Amino acid sequence: MSENRLHIDWTACDGRGLCAELLSEILVEDEWGYPLARDGAVEPAVPRALQKNAKRAVDRCPALALRLVNS
Ligand code: SF4
Repeated sequence: MSENRLHIDWTACDGRGLCAELLSEILVEDEWGYPLARDGAVEPAVPRALQKNAKRAVDRCPALALRLVNS
């Protein structure tokens, strides 16, 4: 079965770290406030249990820099 992954558009992200707060299970903030995947993936997988939180982070990103993609 395909799974959702979180795509971060680095050219749009303005590094306020909101997504790392909303999705702390998947993301951490780097020292400048930009989100990094805890597992080091470029597009970290979003477990089923976190789909809702991920959707919320996507909807709240002020720079529209987050997107859920299917792989
Ligand atoms: S919420 Fe959006 S703009 Fe803010 S750090 Fe995350 S991806 Fe970047």
